[in-house]
Formats: sequence, C-alpha cells, structure tokens
Amino acid sequence: MKLSRMTFTKLLALVAIVLCSFASTSRASPLDPERYLLVEAEPRAQLEDYRLNDDVWPTHYDIEIKPYLEAETGKQAFTFDGNTKITVKTEKQGVAQIKLHIARMEITSWSVVRKSDNNVVQTLTEIYDAETEVLTIPLASGVTLQANTEYLLSFTYIGNMDDDMHGFYRSYYLLNGEKVWLGSTQFEQTHARRAFPCFDEPRFKATFQLKINHKTPQYSVYSNTPIVIASPSESGRTLTTFGITPSMSSYLVAFIVAPYEINQREQMGILARPQAQNQTQYSLDEGIKLLKALDDWIDYPYSSVPEMPRMYMAAVPDFSAGAMENWGLLTYREANILYRSDDSTSLQQQRIATVISHEIAHQWFGDLLTCEWWDVTWLNEGFARYCEYFATALVEPSWELEHQFVVEQVQSAMQMDSLITTHPMTHPVYTQAQASAIFDNISYNKGAVVLRMMEHFMTPSTFLTALRAYVKENAYKSVRPAHLFDALNRYNPNARMYMEPWTVQPGYPLVTVTSNDNGFTITQKRFLVNEPTHTDATMWPLPLTYATNANEFSNTTPTFVMTASYNIPMADASNVQYFILNKQQVGYYRVNYDAALWGKISNALHSEDFGGIHVLNRAQLVDDLFNLARGDIVPYGTALDILEYLKHETEYAPWLAAVNGLTTLSRRIHAEDEELFTIHILDIFAKAYDTVKFQAPSPTERRVFTYMRQNVLKWACNYGHEACSKAAVAEFERFYANPSVKVHPDLRQVVYCEGIRKGTQAHFEFLWNQYLTSNMATEQILILQGMGCASTYELISIMMDAIASEHVRSQDKSNAYTYIINNQYTLPHVSRYLQLNHAIWAAGHGSYLSVASAFNNLLARLKSDSERDTISAFIETNKNTLGQAAYDSIKNGLTEYETNKQFTMRNRDEISTFLKKKANGGAGAVFANVSMIVSLLVLVVCRW
Ligand SMILES: [Zn+2]
Repeated sequence: MKLSRMTFTKLLALVAIVLCSFASTSRASPLDPERYLLVEAEPRAQLEDYRLNDDVWPTHYDIEIKPYLEAETGKQAFTFDGNTKITVKTEKQGVAQIKLHIARMEITSWSVVRKSDNNVVQTLTEIYDAETEVLTIPLASGVTLQANTEYLLSFTYIGNMDDDMHGFYRSYYLLNGEKVWLGSTQFEQTHARRAFPCFDEPRFKATFQLKINHKTPQYSVYSNTPIVIASPSESGRTLTTFGITPSMSSYLVAFIVAPYEINQREQMGILARPQAQNQTQYSLDEGIKLLKALDDWIDYPYSSVPEMPRMYMAAVPDFSAGAMENWGLLTYREANILYRSDDSTSLQQQRIATVISHEIAHQWFGDLLTCEWWDVTWLNEGFARYCEYFATALVEPSWELEHQFVVEQVQSAMQMDSLITTHPMTHPVYTQAQASAIFDNISYNKGAVVLRMMEHFMTPSTFLTALRAYVKENAYKSVRPAHLFDALNRYNPNARMYMEPWTVQPGYPLVTVTSNDNGFTITQKRFLVNEPTHTDATMWPLPLTYATNANEFSNTTPTFVMTASYNIPMADASNVQYFILNKQQVGYYRVNYDAALWGKISNALHSEDFGGIHVLNRAQLVDDLFNLARGDIVPYGTALDILEYLKHETEYAPWLAAVNGLTTLSRRIHAEDEELFTIHILDIFAKAYDTVKFQAPSPTERRVFTYMRQNVLKWACNYGHEACSKAAVAEFERFYANPSVKVHPDLRQVVYCEGIRKGTQAHFEFLWNQYLTSNMATEQILILQGMGCASTYELISIMMDAIASEHVRSQDKSNAYTYIINNQYTLPHVSRYLQLNHAIWAAGHGSYLSVASAFNNLLARLKSDSERDTISAFIETNKNTLGQAAYDSIKNGLTEYETNKQFTMRNRDEISTFLKKKANGGAGAVFANVSMIVSLLVLVVCRW
C-alpha cells in the first residue's frame, strides 16, 4: 500500500485522540510539524485473542457477491448479498473449534460439512467477539475434525457498502451534476473480513474464485484475475466469474463494480471513469515500462505466475491510502494515476510514476512473497518504498531520484526515529489499530533506507543477486526477516550481523567525530532529539566512510565498526581540508564534529564549489545542523551561521533539506522576531530566486531544477519577495481575465496562492468555480492549495465550510485543512471559525474528534497566548458538546502548546542574536573568534 502522508498523520492523530490518554505524556518533538505520535491502541481484549491459531488453514475460497448500488425490492441500497464457501483442513488431531474473521455483516446461515461425502459436522452456537472480529465455531461435544481431511465452511450473509473507504465500499463521481455510484475494495490490513468471512491474516494463503452478480449494462466488473465467463443471471443482471487466483493472502483480493472504461495495451490496462479516459495514457505508458524494468531487475517475470496474464490499474475517486497493490488489480487515488501534461505539475507526474513503481514492486514484495504478519510489514513496504526511487530510476534516469531519496526518505525517517516514542522496524502488533499504525515512516522509509545501506555494503550487483535468490526461494510463501537474512548471508557472510540490529533496535546513532594530530576518533550514542542527556547505551554496527577532499566522495562501500569508540589513524590529520563522515548519507546516522572540524567544513561550504563536498553530503550537513540545533547538541547560532552558505547553494537536495528545516524552525520563531526572520529568509533565498527566476521550466532544464524553483518561489512569495509577488499576481490576473489560457502547471501553486492571498472575493470565487468544474484530481489539489492562502476571515470561513461539505472529498479534507493552517496569518481566523461553527465541522467530518484534531493541528502552529486562552475558554464552555474524548484531546493540545512555547523561549536568545546580527549586516563571519571555538569544544566535552 502507498500511504497518503496526511491521511496517515490524521489516522495517528485519531488513534491518539480516541485511545490514548498517555499521548499527553508522550515526548513527541515540540518541533515536529507532522507531530508523529506513535501511540498504540489500548487493546480491549487479550492480545493473543486478536490472532487466529494455526489449527485450521484455508486452501480455497468460492465467493459470490451481489451488490445493490440502488434500492431494490427487499434490498437496501449500498448492501450486498454474499455467499462464501471456504475449503479448510487441519494437520492436527483433536481440533474442536474453528476460528476465523468477520466484520460488519449479518450472517443468515452457515454450516460445516466434510467435503468427501457432504456429511454435516455437528456444531454448537457460534460465538462472535466484536472487538477482535473473531468468529468461533465450536464443534458439538465429542466431535473433532479429522486431520488432513477437507471441510467446507459455508456462509450466507448480508454485507454493507459503507462510505469509509474500507471493505467493499461505495464511491461516486459526478456526471452532469449527478452522482454515479460505484463499488470498490480496500482490504489491507484487516478489512477483507467485511466482504467475506475469511482467515484474515497474511500468512493464511489460499486460492480465491470470485463471482459477481451485477447489473448490466450499467456496470462492468473487474477483479484480480481475468473473467472466465459472464452469463445473464436474471433480468438486468449478469453473473461474472473470474479466474482462480494464485495462492495469496486475503488482503490482496480486490474487485470493482463500476461503469468504467479501459485504456489497454500489451498486458497493461488502466481503468477509470469514462470522463477521465483522456488522463490515462501516461500511466499506461509508464506502467508498461516500469513492469518491464521490474521484470528484468527481479528476474522473475510478473507473467510467469500463470493466473496473472495481465495487470489492471484502476483510478478510484474515493481512496483512503495513496494506492493499493492488490495482485493483478492495483487501485489508486485519481491524483496518483491520472495525468495530463497541460494540467499536472512535474512533481505530480513524478509522484504518479513512483507510486506506480511502488505498487508494481509489491507484486513481488508483498503479493508473491508476503510478510508473515504485520509485525514485519517492512518486508513489504521497505522494498516497495525502495523501488519507488531505484526502480523508477531505471525508467527515468534523468530525474535524479537517488538524490531525492536521501532527503525524502533517509532524513524524514530520522525525524520520527529521533523520538522516544519510535519503535524498531520489526515490532509486535496484535489489534486492528496496531496493524494499521505500523504502516508508518519506520516500516516504509527506514525499511528502504536500511535496504539501501545493505546495497552499498554488499555492492549493488551482489545485493541484487541475493534479492533474486530471496524472491525465487520464497515465491508463494509468507516470509520473516530470517528468510531475507539467509539469502543475503549466502552472498556475504556478514550481511545479517550488520543488518539485523538496525531492524530490531529502535532509533539510530549520533556519531561524534573529534580530531587530533594523529587521526580521528569516532564515538556513537543514540540520537534522541528531545533528550540530549539520555543514557540509552544502544550500539549499532556503524557503516563508516569518509572523505577529506573532493575526489573521495564516490566510493560508498563502508567498513563496519561494532564498538562504542573507534580510531581512524591519519598522519597529518590536522592539515586535511576537511573530514566528512558518511559519504552520500548512505549510513543511517547523524554526525556531529568538534569545533575545529565544523570550522573546516564551514570554510569549505563557503568557498568556491563548496570545497567539492558532494551534493548529498551538503544535504546531510544542512539536515544535521538543523536537527543538532533542535536537539541542543550544536548552538542555534553556530548552525545558522554555517547554514548561511545556502545563499550560494543552487542544488535541489540541499535546498529541500533546508526548506524542511526552515519550516520546522519558522513555527518556533518567537512572534516578536518574525520580522527579523523574514529578512533572513529573503536574504538566503535571494540568489536562488535569481537563479530559478519566475518562469515556466525550459524544456531542457533538469527535472530537479524545476522542483527547486517550485520551492524557492513558494518561500519567496510567502515571505513577501516583491518581484515574486508581483509576477504571481500579474499571472493570476491574466488567468482571471482569460481562463481559457491556463497557468503553466509548474507555476500554478505559487500563482494560485499569491493570487488568492492578494486578491478579492471575486478572485476567490473564480478559483473555487474552477475547482467545482475541474475534471482533474491533480488540478483540484493545486486549487485547494491556492485557496488555503486566503487572508480574510470571510474567505477562510467559506473555505472551511467547503472543506466540511461534500465538495471536498473525505480523502482530501485533511490536506485541504493543512493548506490553510500552514499560513500563519490564518490561525486566528481558523480558530474563530472552529469556535463558531464546530457543529458544522463535526457533522462534515463525522465526529467531534475532528474538531479536536483541527484545534490540535492549529495549536501546534500557534504563537499567541491570547488565542490559546480563547481556545481554552471555548472548550470549558462547550465541554458537554465536545464530549470527553475531544475535550481531553484538546487539553493535550494545549499542553503541547506550552511545551512548544518553552522550546521557543529556551532558544530565543540564540536565534534572535543571530537574526539581529544578520539584520545589522554582521552575519557570515563564521568562527571568526577563538572564544566561540573554545565554547564549542566545551560543549562537545560536556555532552559526551
Ligand atoms: Zn505499499
């Protein structure tokens, strides 16, 4: 599955709100904009009761579904009739009960018979636990199942097509203002049980044969495998039978009932609503290329699974995750698969390609080989995330995805993994909520990062050879990490020893380098951003590489160091140009240096060509400096001084690391220092702005340069860069006057935002009308981003109403809200709206917990005690309306506000001293005086 980041954050926030009072005592970073709260649902049953035992195994399912997308005699709309027969057997003696999963269905009849002679097995009344969703079928007293004998479990039931984007759910698109309904599925992790009774754990692989009894000619149907036969069943309906699937997990079953059309070529087909067919060509072409590339890379062709002669990819209007890897029928959010060059940005195009790559990679890593249980989800998602970059790079070598990986994956994994609340990649889970929560940055990002680390250690060709062996040996099986380690170890006997600790230990190290005349000393200690004085003694096998000049950055094969302290002898060490550890940030750790070494690095960064420091190491230095300052390891003044080098930086990766760091920092700048901070931002972005210019990308420019422009323009305009603002407003006015000539997609984000920020209600209504009439999901996202820049209460209020309405789909609501509150000046308006219209917001989102979530996300960005007081008074007055859970949650949000405020106050002096010095023209004289170096040395000694 490809997660939608905001959906995931929202989910965690909800889990936190609903289930955890201890969220208030979690030590989530006060500076983390996404506020990763890894909290686990409080289980309401014994943990082991959530798991099925391995007494009885399914081997085959026959499933028949008859959906009602409109009411019929005796049938409610959005229900379905189900009939499921499961062949099971046991290898054990004396098995006296059968356990399996069902959820949200009404079973009208069931039975157990012995398959060989149809003899009914006598049973007692079934027992259902609504918390664990386990159905227990006890056999009659004295009756047991015979070992190695097939039995048939039969169920007749009525299921529900809910609108919550899970199970077999309902969705719609608009055609001439009318809703056209359709049905689609999302079963990962625990929702197949809502469509059919099943052994709903990934290890219970079985074959499936699906029949759908659907209305014709209005609806077509699609599933994992091709259609075998379709025959009229009754008036206006057809019974369609699909081919038997390969042996696979229940969460990978999928089916769609929709008036879709298909765009197909070779073995690939893109399914979408008819009006979106003009947006399917890119994903078809790119999908075909990616499938071929992955076929070759893994050396196990997709089509060598005989039941899978083709691959369908479907665009679904309502979709909870980003996409889903159902074997043979991959499903996507529209914005992650539908593309037009004249309406989607370059970055949206890249996202579509990488999401497709992710889902196709899952056809092996997830579908053919499946994580045995969700505690090792990284065996699915780590590989899929890795392929997002490195398999897409096989097809799109000019996109520099290897460089983007470092900032987007290595550095973002480190954010969550630097909190005390993080967890190891391999981590026990039991409940449905826990299974869902482990689909996080640790399973995805860190999973991919550790794989890349091993690739560099083993060399790419040996790593690939080992992976191919792993796939061949484990095809059709479920896997544990040991299966992977065994394969890797066969090609390098140290592989497991070096890799396993990274998967079973939480967090990562901060490596400190100190220099002396004869070399360098390396020490390691866990990095926890909010507890600089902790005593956690975890050690990691450290992959070490280093460079002392421009020519040494290319070889990334490391030496592993297994000790707390290690010496690198080097004659004449004090005369090296610089010493940089962890070339191209292949190793998963941060690095701090002593003052002398930081001084050398700073001199290099400020010299011509950045002293030849590799672009990825510049990105690493930027990210480390921001985070070491946050963690109280390096003073903010020092970090910001060195980061002044950014004024001359022209590459995307360091800039992306910089905007991530600056976003976090901007939220904790003291309100009274905002003006100074603005001067700082405009200064460091000045040259970058002149480099990228306010213009559409040229056809020959590097792809990442286009991405860099998007970031630079956004920051420049947001902080009032005059030329940027003028150009953006002029382009918006031009578009407003003549909507038939659209804004270049790669400029839309900044043009829409600035046009709305500086515009009138008429401009706002004009863009909203574009949203309502747009046929493209990618364009709708750009419009929502732009409308989030509205600056008056009246317009913010209209926008908030729109988000609460069905004009903004559930899948987009959380993002749309974030676009608004990412603008500091909107916060008082948003707060007022929520206080006045909490009932509308709660109704539009389904509960008052959404009101709590909205307040908490706002509080995380707020810098005003008077606004805090208003919110505090509001929740006391409205305690009964909010309900206890929402009230408690906002209370926690208010506590976090105080934590954030303390952080701001603690660091204000250092930051504002830097900003004032800079505003007075004095910044940039880095390490000019000895006393600073001495104080830094003292700092290093004290910390370690
Ligand atoms: Zn995935």
